Amino acid sequence: MPTIFTHPVVALGLSPCLSFREKRKQIIFIAIFLTILPDIDVIGLRLGVPYLHLFGHRGFTHSITFAIIVSLLMAWFVVKNSSLSLKPIWLYFFLSAVSHGLLDAMTNGGHGIAFFSPFSNERFFFYTQPIDVSTLSIKRFFNGQGYKVIISEIFWIWIPFFIIFSFCLLWKKHSRQ
Ligand SMILES: [Zn+2]
Repeated sequence: MPTIFTHPVVALGLSPCLSFREKRKQIIFIAIFLTILPDIDVIGLRLGVPYLHLFGHRGFTHSITFAIIVSLLMAWFVVKNSSLSLKPIWLYFFLSAVSHGLLDAMTNGGHGIAFFSPFSNERFFFYTQPIDVSTLSIKRFFNGQGYKVIISEIFWIWIPFFIIFSFCLLWKKHSRQ
């Protein structure tokens, strides 16, 4: 996986594209949570669930189906008792949740991602994996391996999402004039 600080960059990068103010902070906070939620499967990994099992690491919680379900549930939770419409919030939550597996599929370590779980447990990587995989060991991370990981993440994730962030801000400013 990319590091735990990098997955939320997607939710933050897309946040200025939201065109409403109501519950804005709560919505961005939930989107950040959804970018890291798929790694909840490391609990199973620690408890002995095999990596390539349906609920193994990078299995069902990294799938498109999981992203659809959790984003719909959270969007419904946010929208009820408000004047907000479901679709844009669902889309924002879905992109945040599904981005986790997509970024993992660009890393150069571990096994692939079960994008089509639970219908197929086949694991996928992208044809190119430019992001250095982050170690799960904090000790190894601070022993120098972390530096290489952060550099590749800045280049492949932080900069592109900073560009999206800036475009959304400019677009909003322009559309207000
Ligand atoms: Zn992951």
